[in-house]
Amino acid sequence: MSKSFRGGVHPLRHIGEGKPLTQASPVRAIVPDTVVIPVGMHLGAPSEPCVEKGQRVLMGEVIAKPVGGLGLPVHASVSGEVMFVETRQMLRAKPELCIGIQNDKLDEWVELHPMAPEQATPAEILSAVKNAGICGMGGAAFPTHIKLSIPEGKQADTVILNGAECEPYLTADHRLMLEHPDRIVGGLKLILRATGVKKGVIVIEKNKPDAILSLQKAVSGENDIQVLPLKTKYPQGSEKQIIAVVTGREVPRGKLPIDAGALVFNVSTTAAIYNAVALGKPLVERITTVTGCVVEPSNLLLRVGTRYEDAINACGGLRECARKVFAGGPMTGLCAADLESSTTKATNGIIAFDEQQAKEMIESACIRCARCVSVCPIGLHPYLMRSDLDKHDLESAKKHGLLDCVLCGACSYICPARRYLTSSYKAAREELAAKARR
Ligand code: SF4
Ligand code: SF4
Repeated sequence: MSKSFRGGVHPLRHIGEGKPLTQASPVRAIVPDTVVIPVGMHLGAPSEPCVEKGQRVLMGEVIAKPVGGLGLPVHASVSGEVMFVETRQMLRAKPELCIGIQNDKLDEWVELHPMAPEQATPAEILSAVKNAGICGMGGAAFPTHIKLSIPEGKQADTVILNGAECEPYLTADHRLMLEHPDRIVGGLKLILRATGVKKGVIVIEKNKPDAILSLQKAVSGENDIQVLPLKTKYPQGSEKQIIAVVTGREVPRGKLPIDAGALVFNVSTTAAIYNAVALGKPLVERITTVTGCVVEPSNLLLRVGTRYEDAINACGGLRECARKVFAGGPMTGLCAADLESSTTKATNGIIAFDEQQAKEMIESACIRCARCVSVCPIGLHPYLMRSDLDKHDLESAKKHGLLDCVLCGACSYICPARRYLTSSYKAAREELAAKARR
């Protein structure tokens, strides 16, 4: 059985969504000479640095402390000496505060406090997840301990693990599902205990039959957990679409998944939860797909704060055809100004595009064809929102659904005028979030 939702697109179906480049590439770890770690990697306010230049830090040591309700600690991803605490231009529009560390290659860890996962209480799980600095690793970067805390008066009956990985080119979650299904199932059991929810469903697109088999094997004998194959269609991995497909319930406009009685976690985030409890490890590394116009497209286990250039060089460097580098998938990712930017907890891909793909990113005027409307899985009018934003009318954009948009990128993909739709919504949402924080 496979399930799906209304709307959506099929990007790069003729080349297997670009995934064959790396889906058979086992994960290999690289160890950079330096890391540059932004302190604002999660959705809330940036963390506050608590180290200074010249100080020696251990791997896993807290180097920036949480600020505010959505705050998270940031940890050193290598042991070594702090080179700087200063602002650097990363992917966002404005420079960000970063901590640079020279790696001494000793990988000397702080003292870790692992627990027997089957004995961890809900409070201990929440505390371990919070202290490990875990946020959504599928791209949203929402603090995970908050998602695990069901607000009073709300209820959930299903935890959904998102292994859809519907973005073209990306295979990081795919490799995790093949290589560490035990960590994913172990993490899911911890989520079920922490939230008191009884039922777990792991969803995977049908273009990953080996991952479906791997997880089916890992959950055999678990009566409360099932693996559900989904049709291959973009954005199958979007929270609202997954909830509708799995539970048959809609997330009401302007509401959260919990309002539809469900919680959704990415499979990488779930494995990080397992690592935080069973190994006591903070989130300092993740699998990232490095692909496109690179010599050896690969899946790499990267320390948080690895420069794109180091990741690309570990794949043999850029091929001559490379013109633009994207962080994240081609549908929802952001174009990097240079290779000095570094990876965060949410960087699931680094993709180098060639001339043709780069040209396809040059926008022209809207021709009012409404193709964007026909593919929007939420039923919005993307061209109207963009027109509002061109006039800097945020209130009108909100009325047209700016806050309901799941930033899936389907409208940008289908638009014949190559309008920068999703990136304009993303920027507007960041502006609204910054206003709210102020
Ligand atoms: S408007 Fe938002 S939800 Fe709709 S297709 Fe565009 S990015 Fe996706
Ligand atoms: S698909 Fe592009 S050109 Fe067509 S209406 Fe939407 S924004 Fe305009």
